[in-house]
Amino acid sequence: MPLKIIQIKDLSVKYGDIEALSKVSFEIEAGDYVGIVGPNGSGKSTLIKSVLGLIPFEGEILFQGESLSDFMLQKKVGYLPQKMSFIDQRFPATAKEIVVSGLYCRKKFPKRVTRDDYQTAWKIMETLGISGLADRSVGKLSGGQQQRVLLARALINAPQLLILDEPTVALDPQSRETFSLTIQKLNRENGVTILLVSHDAGSIGKYASKFLYLDRKVVFYGTFDKFCKSSEMTDYFGAEQHIICHRH
Ligand code: ADP
Ligand code: MG
Repeated sequence: MPLKIIQIKDLSVKYGDIEALSKVSFEIEAGDYVGIVGPNGSGKSTLIKSVLGLIPFEGEILFQGESLSDFMLQKKVGYLPQKMSFIDQRFPATAKEIVVSGLYCRKKFPKRVTRDDYQTAWKIMETLGISGLADRSVGKLSGGQQQRVLLARALINAPQLLILDEPTVALDPQSRETFSLTIQKLNRENGVTILLVSHDAGSIGKYASKFLYLDRKVVFYGTFDKFCKSSEMTDYFGAEQHIICHRH
């Protein structure tokens, strides 16, 4: 039986009177690449923040059958938040310092960075094809390069699960493609489970093994192929289903 890495049961989140999520339930298996799409304000970021334990919620979220905190403490989750890709030009850090900072949360005071830490950072940067940027000032890198530096930071603890919230919004089409292929490779070759929010329903089908369409509730969860063949989804989306399914 496939290992369930996350089980979400009846997840509901309210911000005051706004119900951002209502009774959301689904499961993610180890090795899945789940692409989440949905309109603006449909609760995608709220879902991710609940999974990460960053906001209060109702319902249950289990990681390999354990509660959130145990799993998080072991640093099995890497996270790339929404809108982090604009780093000020004068931000005083090199790319490798940013990557290494991913290890700080594990360290006890005084948080000293060792030669080994830099070695680990360098290896990950090499895997992502950015080792040449290690000593460059991070603020002066392009959006795509910065995003890969932040990805390297998220990967430095060798997470089993990588969570990304609209990671390619700020990128040009070329960098977007490179970034998407990098994530796909992490999933296929390194077996990292991926949970990725995308603004682009059409291109997610190219990479993801499962497709979650969210609109405060789960409208659809399953393979992209099933989504495209579902007459129930045709009833829901009308012509938009065709547009989503035939863009890639
Ligand atoms: P998405 O990521 O799909 O665009 P969000 O999860 O960010 O959607 O937001 C879902 C809904 O919750 C929206 O109506 C949004 O305005 C509201 N919302 C999100 N964060 C907050 C917050 N901190 N306080 C109040 N309302 C919020
Ligand atoms: Mg969002």
